[in-house]
Amino acid sequence: MKTTTKKFDVSFEFFPPKTTEGMDKLREARNQLAKFNPEFFSVTFGAGGSTRDRTMDTVLEIQREGFQSAPHISCISSSKAEIRDLLHAYQAQGIKRLVALRGDIPSGEVSAGDFRYASELVAFIRDETGSHFSVEVAAYPEFHPEARTPAADLLNLKRKVDAGANSAITQYFYNADAYFRFVDQCDALGITVPIVPGIMPIYNITQLARFSSVCGAEIPRWLKMRLEEYGDDIASLRAFGVDVVSELCETLLAWGVPSLHFYTLNQSNTISNIIENVQD
Ligand code: FAD
Repeated sequence: MKTTTKKFDVSFEFFPPKTTEGMDKLREARNQLAKFNPEFFSVTFGAGGSTRDRTMDTVLEIQREGFQSAPHISCISSSKAEIRDLLHAYQAQGIKRLVALRGDIPSGEVSAGDFRYASELVAFIRDETGSHFSVEVAAYPEFHPEARTPAADLLNLKRKVDAGANSAITQYFYNADAYFRFVDQCDALGITVPIVPGIMPIYNITQLARFSSVCGAEIPRWLKMRLEEYGDDIASLRAFGVDVVSELCETLLAWGVPSLHFYTLNQSNTISNIIENVQD
């Protein structure tokens, strides 16, 4: 019988659906995840503004439901005028939190637009809107794939914080030690903002391997081999994934992380199972 319920803060990330059916599914997922009383729901933004309207629509719908909603803004390929319009539109709608990113450079293209790095976007947000928004930025415990060195990547996070970021959300990872070392190094550099672990549930090995090869998050060898062993048995793979990610969350919470940010991929069952495991 359940005797205690551990409390910890969570937030959830969605992508803006393309279809009415996708919007309906997202509403269902959101309703299910709402019971965990999230600090906010964030909504991703396609590089170059490709999802601009859909991100805005999804964010405003979440806000109308009474939740705090945080749009992501990626600056690559955008002009200052475009970003300025977007910031003022969100400000006028009462949005108070943003996730500020560079975005991935589309393959084969050189970075066009007025911004090269997320630190420039954070500085621009502060210049344009002062302290109106609470600004989150991305951090990489296993380091960003384009970083020249780990030290250069850490300095980049410091630049983003010095430019006005209030907190950071990490790329996902399955090596808790990488996160602990990263936070220690941030401390040593005088980065004092909360560094919230981004948690990726395991839904599917092919998809996870594809994401990981792009973003530089390592799937440890033991984990990859165990996942591969399940073959087409998706139900067993997901059950195993829930155990692995629940243990990761428990380790992180025991260490004292500020909260957990879940990459939902617009699904709710697996994440609900993980959070309920960890709360028990
Ligand atoms: P930056 O902080 O600008 O860093 C990019 C690279 O440039 C790093 O390697 C850094 O070390 C290097 N760098 C920075 N400044 C300098 C400098 N002055 N000189 C030399 N090198 C420098 N992408 C999207 O398109 N839309 C989203 O909604 C989205 N949401 C995300 C949410 C989270 C929590 C995370 C972790 C990532 C998200 N991404 C999203 C992916 C992100 O856009 C990519 O990881 C992108 O490649 C880098 O974005 P950034 O904001 O970290 O960039």
